[in-house]
Amino acid sequence: MDSISKPVSVIIIGAGISGISAAKTLNDNGIRDILILEGTSRIGGRMKKVNFGGQVVELGANWLHAGEGSHCSSPLLEAANKIKLNTILSDYSHLASHVYKQEGGLYEENEVEMAMDKALTIQEFGAKLSETNQETNQEDMSILDMQRLYNWMPTNPLEKLIDYYYYDYEDGEPPEATSLKHTLPRREFNDFGDAQNFIVDPRGFESLVHLLGKQFLTYTNEVVNDNRVKLNQVVSEIYYTDNGVTIKTEDELIYEAKVCIVSVSLGVLQNNLIKFNPELPGWKRRAICEFSIASFTKIFLKFPYAFWPTGPGTEFFLYAHERRGYYPIWKHYENEMPESNILMVMTSGEESMRIEQQSDEETKIEAMEVLRKIYGDGVPEAEDIFVSRWNSNKFYKGAFSNWPPNYTTQQHAQLQAPIGPVYFTGEHTSLEHFGCVEGAYYAGCTTGKEVIKYLQQGV
Ligand SMILES: Cc1cc2nc3c(=O)[nH]c(=O)nc-3n(C[C@H](O)[C@H](O)[C@H](O)COP(=O)(O)OP(=O)(O)OC[C@H]3O[C@@H](n4cnc5c(N)ncnc54)[C@H](O)[C@@H]3O)c2cc1C
Repeated sequence: MDSISKPVSVIIIGAGISGISAAKTLNDNGIRDILILEGTSRIGGRMKKVNFGGQVVELGANWLHAGEGSHCSSPLLEAANKIKLNTILSDYSHLASHVYKQEGGLYEENEVEMAMDKALTIQEFGAKLSETNQETNQEDMSILDMQRLYNWMPTNPLEKLIDYYYYDYEDGEPPEATSLKHTLPRREFNDFGDAQNFIVDPRGFESLVHLLGKQFLTYTNEVVNDNRVKLNQVVSEIYYTDNGVTIKTEDELIYEAKVCIVSVSLGVLQNNLIKFNPELPGWKRRAICEFSIASFTKIFLKFPYAFWPTGPGTEFFLYAHERRGYYPIWKHYENEMPESNILMVMTSGEESMRIEQQSDEETKIEAMEVLRKIYGDGVPEAEDIFVSRWNSNKFYKGAFSNWPPNYTTQQHAQLQAPIGPVYFTGEHTSLEHFGCVEGAYYAGCTTGKEVIKYLQQGV
């Protein structure tokens, strides 16, 4: 196999925020002969904007944690402030007065508040139990096990919806699939703040990845123009020995390096979309396959006019259905983009996977039926629809990772562990902040530093 360019010190596979932060860490420490191989035509990965209905909306990550207090410090929030990225704090405080029944009509605010209070009391119980379990070295359990211990199970559509709101909406998977130990108390809220800054900026959330990029890569007119970044390079195979790596792309191009950093999503690794030669050891494959990546779908609908309540406290509304996650969480854009007449509905898990498989037209029919139950038969037909499909996209195969019950920290260390000169990074490798952009950013920095040490040892 002949390399198309001269061997470099490090090849980074993937130009999401973790890959770019790893590359920047290397560059900042004097390792500049690097190559970033990205399969798509852009930088940013799961931080991705699209034009929809005359506006720019976020298809992937949308919220940046924000908060005050000694624990809270988010480098990404600082970066967002630096470039004056337009963000609006999401206001969930009036949710109880905007929860709709399956056949239409609002739940009494009181009833919803009681259901939410109960869910929060159980969540606090869960957070304390999680801490006690850790102090006393008890085994992990699922969020669902914890709820059962409290002697509580959501049964009616309202309870299921509130349960969905506190867990699936956050974790992408239901309580039975989610670790108590690694979920409660919510670490990212404690460290970065429990307020949610909604990014609504024509430059997109991805502009934070470009901000990192611009600090060490050449850009022309806001577009990366650096021969160390190779876009549309779909890596298909990684050959490795103790002496280095040879990387093959789908187009049969060959690249060589002393080390490579694999920053692709857990879904890409689970689906064996990159072949390793020799194969990864069994313990590594298990660590990859036993961790979880959630499916999460955003559906955008554009209408001729806004027929939903607008004004303070109306931003979100919820829909309760006996089927968990059936078009549950809705948001209008009137605060951020007045008169845009756009609604977004979000779902996860099995409903997300089901919706990804069907046509947009079928999804539109279902969503319209829900909206007409909520707001009556006078609801106008949506003019346009956009459905995200992260799960079926070969560059992601999922949305963000979720920690399954009984997946151990030792296994997680194995998930992150290098195999010879092949290093692994990405949001799923972050022990404390997996699943979110901050975790991905820090994971990249950490892996960058580990690779520097490896290179200093002299290979
Ligand atoms: C719908 C959705 C909603 C989310 N909401 C939030 C949120 O509100 N807040 C939050 O903090 N986080 C959120 N996240 C999670 C956040 O987006 C991710 O944690 C983060 O962006 C992951 O960054 P990464 O660098 O680890 O991976 P990625 O962004 O996936 O980067 C990996 C890169 O590898 C590339 N790649 C894949 N395969 C190959 C290949 N074979 N060859 C070459 N390149 C390849 C991909 O194209 C991609 O660019 C959300 C994610 C999704 C999908």
